[in-house]
Amino acid sequence: MYLENDVNAFTLGEKWLGEAKEYQNALCVTLGRGVGVGILINGTLFGGEHHGAGEIGHMKIATDPDAPLCVCGSSGCLEAFISNPAICNYVQKRIKDGSKSILQENEAITISEIQQAALSGDELCVKTYKRVGHFLGIGIANLINIFDPEVILIGGEGTVVGNLIYQEMKRTIHRNAVYGLDKEIQIKPIDFEDNLWVLGVATLVVQEIFKVSI
Ligand SMILES: [Zn+2]
Repeated sequence: MYLENDVNAFTLGEKWLGEAKEYQNALCVTLGRGVGVGILINGTLFGGEHHGAGEIGHMKIATDPDAPLCVCGSSGCLEAFISNPAICNYVQKRIKDGSKSILQENEAITISEIQQAALSGDELCVKTYKRVGHFLGIGIANLINIFDPEVILIGGEGTVVGNLIYQEMKRTIHRNAVYGLDKEIQIKPIDFEDNLWVLGVATLVVQEIFKVSI
């Protein structure tokens, strides 16, 4: 398993050219098709002994028998609640169960339709993203309690709804970070679209370093 996600490239890009430039201890969380975290410790990317570090998407946040299944084969993983495919499944199910939405029952509801509906105030989709913010906040509070970094950057194509996620996320982090650590740690959303070039440059360099296709 070598850098099959692009979160490490995103993290190096932010360290070299972006928002993590001035920091030595940073976490870069991405939300989209999956959920991942790039870990910078003392200015160096920490990949783990087998390049498997940073799989925050498979952090267990539920253990009850009804916990949603994850693509990894387990259940109750963070990703099974907040990845783009998980959000699409959740919204489809809620509509099927009778929740009101401007979206129609349709097996092929796309994430961008849900994002647009949320941004235009659709009740179900707004609630869905608050729920995403809550679970993302749980994951990030767990990271804070383990790493106590200087800064946490949050990006990825799943974050285009911005504050619909971030308000609830920050509330949840505040409730769950120990010693009030969240007050000391900067939590910065990154405009992913604006940073694609950074990601592109970093990806090329990382491919060169590891000689793998990402
Ligand atoms: Zn999983």
